Amino acid sequence: MGLEFVLATANAHKAVEIRAVLAGVGVDVVERPSDVPDVDETSDTLEGNALQKARAVCEATGRPAIGDDTGLFVSALNGEPGVRSARYAGPAAIDADNVRKLLSALSEVDAAHRTAHFRTVIAVAYPDGSAVTVEGVLDGWIVDQPRGERGFGYDPVFASDELRGRTLAEVSADEKNAVSHRARALAALAERLRL
Ligand code: IMP
Repeated sequence: MGLEFVLATANAHKAVEIRAVLAGVGVDVVERPSDVPDVDETSDTLEGNALQKARAVCEATGRPAIGDDTGLFVSALNGEPGVRSARYAGPAAIDADNVRKLLSALSEVDAAHRTAHFRTVIAVAYPDGSAVTVEGVLDGWIVDQPRGERGFGYDPVFASDELRGRTLAEVSADEKNAVSHRARALAALAERLRL
């Protein structure tokens, strides 16, 4: 019988991506049972939040569970929005609010000083209490006007040399998945599980 992980996230887009990568190392990924509630993110680190989510779902189901957390870290803002990326513009913020706040915070910052990176941490928690965490990073910068229609979140304002200067919203899903922070964290996890 193969290994099976329960996913803490209910995000369908992430589920597809995670399932595809882990299938390659013989791990099945199953959705969180509907009676297991969403987990609050209360840590001030990505590691803390990813572990919190994985551990809560592992405890509720008695099975290994996988949790993730992502942040956008902007150098000129001392790493903000960072671990608070989802609620940067407030507790009920939508993507457009967060992007608007970010561009406004950087309005006086010139092109040479707009460097940023995305970082994803993925945690797997096991019923015996042990856990594994891995990370993935994508370096780039924040452009001054949104560009592109694809993706989600901060994609329209994050460009990278690895995308030949385009934003994450201007490239195809395949191009994004070839370099993204989340894809890199997943590749690192697959590598760890293979050992
Ligand atoms: P989460 O940890 O994946 O829920 O993401 C935290 C915040 O980062 C949310 O505001 C997301 O919209 C944003 N985010 C996460 N991944 C990406 C991405 O690949 N591109 C752009 N924004 C992202």
